[in-house]
Amino acid sequence: MKYKHLFGPVSSRRLGVSLGIDLVPYKHCPLNCVYCEIQSTTYLQTQREEFFPVEEILEELDSFLASSPELDYITFSGAGEPTLYSRIGEVVDHIKAHYPQYKLALLTNGILLSNEEVLNSIIKCDLILPSLDAATQEVFERVNRPMEGVMVAEQIEGLVRLRQRYSGEIHLEVFIVPDITDTPEELEKLRDAILRIKPDLVQLNSLDRPGTEEWVEAADAKRLIEIQKYMQEKIEAPIEVIAKIEYQGGLNALDSDLVERIRGIILRRPCTAEELAKTSGAHINEISKALRELNNLGKLKTERKERGVFYSWIE
Ligand code: SF4
Repeated sequence: MKYKHLFGPVSSRRLGVSLGIDLVPYKHCPLNCVYCEIQSTTYLQTQREEFFPVEEILEELDSFLASSPELDYITFSGAGEPTLYSRIGEVVDHIKAHYPQYKLALLTNGILLSNEEVLNSIIKCDLILPSLDAATQEVFERVNRPMEGVMVAEQIEGLVRLRQRYSGEIHLEVFIVPDITDTPEELEKLRDAILRIKPDLVQLNSLDRPGTEEWVEAADAKRLIEIQKYMQEKIEAPIEVIAKIEYQGGLNALDSDLVERIRGIILRRPCTAEELAKTSGAHINEISKALRELNNLGKLKTERKERGVFYSWIE
């Protein structure tokens, strides 16, 4: 079966081996973050939609999970904000009813969590990984570039409400953009917001792959550790600096065409050839061949960074 909504399994630093489910077409999101790995948001929106028939997504899941693959998580993520999909609750319910052996994770910017209906639809997930990068509207607008009318105060209230209603794990990601989100004033307000949200874990992240805006730089390790110490002075939950990607290898590869799988992965985030080899379980020579084929289609983008050449796919 050719998968349109599933990708991977991919191995990530936060979720181990995870099968991705993409519920939203490229790229619908209420934010347009300067560091986004998936490039600029083409559809800034907060309105929820049934972008695809839910039956189509459930059919793919049933087909893939029929072989009982070994997974750490099934994860809602992809090339947009998953909670924009108006029938996400039915997908959650289907997995929980038919595949209770799998843990379910949601990667979200949390913007829609102040909406009761959205909150109810995702409450059965085992792990929610929201993001929060700013606590003031000014910095929120500079870094997350929200749709007009979207307020960071609402994002924070939505996350506080999530904590009150949700008994699963919350791992909050804070992305540091040097000299913008890590000024003393912003960090103090951010820390106060996190104290109210009470996540189980805070993960400090910074640029690792090419972002949407070229001027965005990575925070260095020394600065991240300073921020970690500052936050940890008041926050009880562990604060973790997310280390560089460590791949686990040996994955059960999807039984579909390698070129298509590679395209699906780099559509969502830029990767080096070595990462693609480890993620897909394919030999590096096969990856090189697949990348050459994709290059012939004219939509492969390459970019040289500190960690090597990153490949991405531009639709
Ligand atoms: S990083 Fe996430 S929230 Fe920000 S624009 Fe990209 S998909 Fe949207």
